[in-house]
Amino acid sequence: MSLYTTEGIVLKHRSMGEADKVLTIITRDGGKVRAVASGVKRPRNRLTGGTQLFTYSDFLIFSGKNLDRISQCEIKHSFRKIREDLYKFAYASYIAELTSEFVMEGISNPHLFFLLLKTLYNLEKEDDVELITCMFETKLLLVSGLCPHIDKHCIVCGDSIVAQPFFSAREGGVICKKCAVKDTSSFKVSLETLKTLNTLLRIKFKALKGLNLTKKEKKETRQILMSFLMYHIDKKLKSMYFLDKIMEN
Ligand SMILES: [Zn+2]
Repeated sequence: MSLYTTEGIVLKHRSMGEADKVLTIITRDGGKVRAVASGVKRPRNRLTGGTQLFTYSDFLIFSGKNLDRISQCEIKHSFRKIREDLYKFAYASYIAELTSEFVMEGISNPHLFFLLLKTLYNLEKEDDVELITCMFETKLLLVSGLCPHIDKHCIVCGDSIVAQPFFSAREGGVICKKCAVKDTSSFKVSLETLKTLNTLLRIKFKALKGLNLTKKEKKETRQILMSFLMYHIDKKLKSMYFLDKIMEN
């Protein structure tokens, strides 16, 4: 067994037996890692604090044949305020699950690691969780090389879009009315929302405060981003059912 150290953020955990948990962690340099945290379900266990959901920690890990095992961990930032706020918790769960879909085991993805970290810091500090989630989804597409084509020209036929634009996840961007007839999953989008998306692709997190989006623009932006992300991962995430429930209330 060899030992390694890494910075990581806990994306997921599930119970294993009476006292243990299996964690899914995104590490800074080694991609996704699954590791057992022994005894964390028992009171006063030394690993409990640093292995909670969304916690950013320094880990010392034994690499095993099947599963790795956490030997030590030290909290760098706990993101406790996210766990204590049901609304933020629901969005963070979705963001963490989405991250887990886009990072591979053993393949380093530092851009995604730092995007998640920045997103969690903003989610903890700011109240507009929907806008922060839009920003995360946009940048996730960008760092994954899946940037949608948002332009005044149809991605299929190249015609300039003069009136009503449509969005097609299948085609990967904005299409014209004529091409939308052939793609029943495409839907109408407003020019304002397309402008918003282009802005999100360009700006940094600290510029989000200057954006004053209407409810309709936020809703449409998320509809585009989610349809595109779901098309690529080809399933509905578990955390989305939870998020839907929270939004209903
Ligand atoms: Zn077209």
